[in-house]
Amino acid sequence: MLRRPHDCVRCDATIDPGEEYGAVDVLDPEGDLAVLLCVDCARDLRAFLDGEPS
Ligand SMILES: [Zn+2]
Repeated sequence: MLRRPHDCVRCDATIDPGEEYGAVDVLDPEGDLAVLLCVDCARDLRAFLDGEPS
């Protein structure tokens, strides 16, 4: 649950608290890092990972 608005890491859309969003876990040298995606970008990413032609 978000406590404050975040920007979608892909399209910069604002994700407001209470809205649906996607989260992707990535690693950086500091360790775990989660980036947030708006629902549209999360859907696109899932389609890409599933190998669907876009
Ligand atoms: Zn987005």
